[in-house]
Amino acid sequence: MVRFNKKLADRIFKMDRYMNKLAGGEFDYEMPRELMQEDDEIKSLAHDGKKMARALKTLVEFDALTELNNRRSADKKLSEVRIRMVEMGMKYCVCIADIDFFKKVNDTYGHEMGDEVLRMVAAKLKKGMVGKGFAARWGGEEFLLIFDGRELDIAKRELSMIMDDVRTIYVPDTDRQITMSFGLTAMIAGESTDEALSRADANLYEAKEGGRNQIVCK
Ligand code: GH3
Ligand code: MG
Ligand code: MG
Repeated sequence: MVRFNKKLADRIFKMDRYMNKLAGGEFDYEMPRELMQEDDEIKSLAHDGKKMARALKTLVEFDALTELNNRRSADKKLSEVRIRMVEMGMKYCVCIADIDFFKKVNDTYGHEMGDEVLRMVAAKLKKGMVGKGFAARWGGEEFLLIFDGRELDIAKRELSMIMDDVRTIYVPDTDRQITMSFGLTAMIAGESTDEALSRADANLYEAKEGGRNQIVCK
């Protein structure tokens, strides 16, 4: 009886610790295995806890419209990248991508259609970055791409394939083609994330000035 109570108290303690981790934002904290072993109320609580962790993670890290990672998770990824560059010498490239004349899409075809175009663009970016790195909605009609472990020339080649794929998007049931402008740059170990992002942003600005629908990379 004493042993039974001790075991129960121990499992309740672990459940409490799991809940505290969740409350602190550690959505990937693993559910202790012993909470799932007995077929009892604690197992059922543990199941609910796991479901809650998944739901919270989605709400906190993903953009509801496009289902891409949101800006908050992009910021988190950027800090991880910075640490990996300094500690492990990994190479990264970062790109800010912006839909061309998107306001015109909204004004001509309506906000709903604008939303649909955002979803279509996001799907292309997500697919294009599989196995290459990370894609996030940076804000409005801007996206952030991070190329893992790549030199600038390789990232540029891969990005131009993504650009071509975006060019295949048309506003549904119209002949209006969607294009994007891209500012790409290599991240430099030791510099701040803001420095790399300002360079990407300046490149994006140049791409817009240069006629849009292109990559500027330096
Ligand atoms: P540029 O080629 O210079 O980038 O021109 P643009 O029209 O794309 O840029 P601008 O910054 O003038 O307009 C961006 C528009 O994006 C304005 C804003 O209403 C729209 N937008 C931002 N977020 C959303 C969204 O979630 N849904 C829709 N439908 N529109 C959005
Ligand atoms: Mg913009
Ligand atoms: Mg734009």
